[in-house]
Amino acid sequence: MPEHESDRRQAPPSLKGADWLERPETQAVFDALAVGEVETRVVGGAVRNALLGLPVTEMDLATTAEPEHVMALARHAKLKAIPTGIDHGTVTLIADGTSFEVTTLRRDVETFGRHAQVAFTTDWEEDARRRDFTLNALYADRDGTVFDPLGGYADLAQGRVRFIGDAEERIKEDYLRILRFFRFSAYYGTGEFDEAGLRASVRLLAGLEQLSAERVGGEMRRILVAPRALDGIAALFDYGLLTDVLGGVPRLDDFGRLVAIEETACLGDNPARRLAVLAVFIDEDAPRLAARLRLSNAEQSVLVLGGERSGDTGLPEETRAKELLYRLGEGIYPSFVLIAWARAGAPPDDAGWGAALALPQRWQAPAFPLRGTDIADLGRSGPEIGEALRRLERDWIGGGFAEDREQLLVRATALVS
Ligand code: ATP
Ligand code: MG
Repeated sequence: MPEHESDRRQAPPSLKGADWLERPETQAVFDALAVGEVETRVVGGAVRNALLGLPVTEMDLATTAEPEHVMALARHAKLKAIPTGIDHGTVTLIADGTSFEVTTLRRDVETFGRHAQVAFTTDWEEDARRRDFTLNALYADRDGTVFDPLGGYADLAQGRVRFIGDAEERIKEDYLRILRFFRFSAYYGTGEFDEAGLRASVRLLAGLEQLSAERVGGEMRRILVAPRALDGIAALFDYGLLTDVLGGVPRLDDFGRLVAIEETACLGDNPARRLAVLAVFIDEDAPRLAARLRLSNAEQSVLVLGGERSGDTGLPEETRAKELLYRLGEGIYPSFVLIAWARAGAPPDDAGWGAALALPQRWQAPAFPLRGTDIADLGRSGPEIGEALRRLERDWIGGGFAEDREQLLVRATALVS
């Protein structure tokens, strides 16, 4: 890698004084592990994001202490310690309600997919080499000094997401790294995605089949809402991976329009909505995707909005929009509008669609004033009750939700007698 040799010397700045380092709970974890020769550093996402000026939400730590030792030191310091993945070196410590994943430095000696045989080490560079991308192999000690054994900072600063070592070898150790490559490229990459990473991903794409739905779903959710979501999804498509992952035909133009609309409206954090536009066309697409990506029930209720069953997709006029808001609820309604908007091909600054999206801010759906017992009191039973209620509700919606309970009771009496 001669062209990168010179920027290897680009020294990362210190993170001294960063609030996430100074917090009492972070310091408590460092204190607990500060005995003898033990060295402990923050690693991965926290350091990477801090160097980019992004918020740090969770912290992974790397330590030279072996896992049983970490457990003992934590107990001694009265911190809660959970042996989350103690066989591969990971213990979760909880200080004042915040969890920290603490993993003993290790080198991978043999790998069977994600189940690596591990050997613990006290060599920081060995630990760095078993990580995935250079920009994830950055460490910071409690004083904020950054350690960069593999030149990850230069890559981070220049938006290069590159595998550590040989991309193919690294992917064969864990096929999830294919999706992590696209995910991190869509978050932290600038410019084109790394050529070696792309070639290795294409060559080994059959390995994706070995991954669990949960792991694939976890990565896909994040790619769908990445800052460069469209580039990430388009690259997965261009290199032949997306169709395999989704098991259907993606619709990139609609997806690109949804991203643009959401960016304009500052609403970009719903992966299920993006997936609905990208990959749900016929109703059958939704259950297949839900299974392939292990989606939650809440996510599935957004996903089905992409199918035919969710009805018309043109710009709804006010009464129809109110009915939709009433029927779908405030949680789902915006997704319905955004999906229809993207499919309609209207631009992100379209006033009509903007007004439909903003309906919940100017109108709150009332609750239907009648219940089953009201119909039962009129002497009806069984399925007749539901039928009458539905009819009354439909007319009530058609009349603009205007009638109150008294008026509806009069109408109900007339209907059942
Ligand atoms: P984020 O938490 O934002 O997803 P992260 O970098 O912290 O980013 P994690 O999945 O929490 O990512 O993993 C922490 C670190 O562990 C990574 O930065 C990387 O160094 C290493 N790592 C995680 N998963 C893998 C993997 N599949 N292969 C190699 N290294 C990995
Ligand atoms: Mg992390």
